[in-house]
Amino acid sequence: MNQPVPGHIYIITGPSGVGKGTLCKMLLAVEPNLTLSVSATSRALRAGETDGVSYHFKTRGEFEAMIAHDQAQADAERHHLLEWAEYNGNYYGTHRSVVQEALQAGRNVLLEIETQGALQVKRKFPAAHLIFVAPPSLEELEHRLRVRGTESEADIASRLEISRHEMTLQDQFDYVLVNQRLEACMTAIREIIARSGSRHSLR
Ligand code: 5GP
Repeated sequence: MNQPVPGHIYIITGPSGVGKGTLCKMLLAVEPNLTLSVSATSRALRAGETDGVSYHFKTRGEFEAMIAHDQAQADAERHHLLEWAEYNGNYYGTHRSVVQEALQAGRNVLLEIETQGALQVKRKFPAAHLIFVAPPSLEELEHRLRVRGTESEADIASRLEISRHEMTLQDQFDYVLVNQRLEACMTAIREIIARSGSRHSLR
């Protein structure tokens, strides 16, 4: 039997509150060959989140055990995590096997992750498509974080501080889109997917 053509990795990255999660939900509803990789995190579950759907929730100890396992394992094919980062005091990471199995089955994989993790994936998969979603301004980002209402004041302040740094990394990504209006941003991402998909099939 013919092996399926391996899928592509699309990474939606950018500051917290910029609309990455909403964009990913909208994309998954209209792109049938796209699979979302559900990340692991040590952060506490928020109201409305479901374990195994929003994230795979782990204790810090469980997460640190995965990191230690990977650091002791020379064979990257046996690692638990494709990438991981500490963000605002919590661990976040992508399960390697889930991504690789989906790619091998010919599915495109969508990752919604912060910038350090996105750059780690690019080093391992140079063909991954890195899409940095920027806010129209930091003031607008702050407004969106407040409207979201999921974080404390202290958390909003530290997320904004991290965002200021993340904005300086934009040049390292393949695409930078300003999320002024969700629909326009979605259209731009779908064009990236359509163009990269046709390039792939010509190889
Ligand atoms: P939140 O706590 O708001 O759910 O996520 C905080 C940040 O972690 C967001 O920027 C989100 O995109 C990012 N994130 C979520 N999952 C992962 C992951 O698997 N790896 C990395 N590096 N970042 C992630």
